[in-house]
Amino acid sequence: MKSTIKQLNTVIVDVPIKRPHQFSTEIVSTKSFLLIQLELKSGLIGIGEGTTPGIWWNGESVETMQLVIEHYLKPILIGQDPRNIEQILQTFDRHVRANPFAKATVEMALYDVVGKIYNAPVHQLLGGLFQDSIDVKWALATGGADGDIKEAKELVGNKQYKDFKIKAGQLKTTEDMKKAIKIANGINGISTTGIDPNGSWDRLTAARWMDRLDEAGIDFLEQPLAPIDIAGAAELASMKKVPIMADESVATVQDAQRLVQEKAANIFSLKIHKSGGMRNTLKIAAIAESAGISCFGGTSLESSIGTAACLHAYGAIRNLDYGSELFGPQWLADDLVKNPVEFKEGKINVPSGVGLGVELDEQKVEKYRRIQGGK
Ligand SMILES: [Mg+2]
Repeated sequence: MKSTIKQLNTVIVDVPIKRPHQFSTEIVSTKSFLLIQLELKSGLIGIGEGTTPGIWWNGESVETMQLVIEHYLKPILIGQDPRNIEQILQTFDRHVRANPFAKATVEMALYDVVGKIYNAPVHQLLGGLFQDSIDVKWALATGGADGDIKEAKELVGNKQYKDFKIKAGQLKTTEDMKKAIKIANGINGISTTGIDPNGSWDRLTAARWMDRLDEAGIDFLEQPLAPIDIAGAAELASMKKVPIMADESVATVQDAQRLVQEKAANIFSLKIHKSGGMRNTLKIAAIAESAGISCFGGTSLESSIGTAACLHAYGAIRNLDYGSELFGPQWLADDLVKNPVEFKEGKINVPSGVGLGVELDEQKVEKYRRIQGGK
């Protein structure tokens, strides 16, 4: 039954994390989320969550998302039929350039409410389940090699995680390489790890160290070079050593097509926010499939809300050969829903409930709501 969009509300929340997380440029101790509630005339409500690794990642933050949604996307949405998702996304793109994280946040709420209209989980709107649970890699980011090895051994020992990713980029490139090799050797035989320097390495050093990284058994090299250095990525991929994963360099369908043409990636890291939503993520996965490229389920470190959206999309993808890094809810010290997503022995289950399959906990929203004028 047709019911149009009546209202949209936004709120920023700051949720504590269990331990400080070392990215290439900063250490964070809370994670900020933009939560939106999209209400239909029928009374049905869809929820969406926007979050970024940080404004350094692609220029968006929870504050920019709130502004873009409130001032530019909301007026487009009011009065629309939420079921026409592709059409709404095209209208967004025509009126607002870029800002994919903001658009993905709205798309998430659209899918949640459309799932509720049809009494179906979102993955059924996206082609159905290809897998009902997905492997999760944990990002080792304690700041030191010994700390990372210790953490990895503990997590494997108590069967929480099987495989890992190392955040790099805060050291000089050769120091990063040595640290990664030390960690890979430290967990050799019990686990594997990839490396993510967030584009901070240079071509020559990466090429020179490729053999040693390969010998240490590094699982993949994620966005080693700057996102615009497609030729450099192609050079590293042509060495056929450690598989090259594209992350920052693959956000749009056009990016995906270019990386295929230039043979500049072996794996695409998917992220629903960087690509402007689940629809676009599935399109990018299809381009990867057409070229024999594997996919990895990336994260912007979401709570159970955004993680559920990722799971619905990734669960419908057949070439998700490298599993995922959807550990956000376990990295946060608290969650924003009454029924958090379920982790078990290094895997996470795709929610089976209607819509996103998670229910917002209003008390948590109140608890972590940002007070205006400060954090
Ligand atoms: Mg990355």
